[in-house]
Amino acid sequence: MKSPTHMCPVCGYPSLKETPRSSEGGGSYEICPSCHFEFGVTDDDKGVDYNAYREEWITKGMPWSSTTRKEPKNWVPGSQLANLALRATLSRVKGRPPRIMLDAVA
Ligand SMILES: [Zn+2]
Repeated sequence: MKSPTHMCPVCGYPSLKETPRSSEGGGSYEICPSCHFEFGVTDDDKGVDYNAYREEWITKGMPWSSTTRKEPKNWVPGSQLANLALRATLSRVKGRPPRIMLDAVA
């Protein structure tokens, strides 16, 4: 059975294996191979929010972070961020407040 993949709410990486946060609110403890955010640790234990972490990652030049997983062919971190922005727009259309703010990305 092929399990669905999930998008990283920090950097837009589309192929996380688990939901970053379950509906019960717990983190997955999966480390995003793209931006290295660890759900349940970077946010819960270290108190860093997605926007702050994303800004820092962008400032560092959006490096691929995983040493065990290779970056995808033709990986374009800027496109991932565009996917995030698109999703934020879509969720606004559905009448819910957007969960991702990309105001910091100008
Ligand atoms: Zn990420």
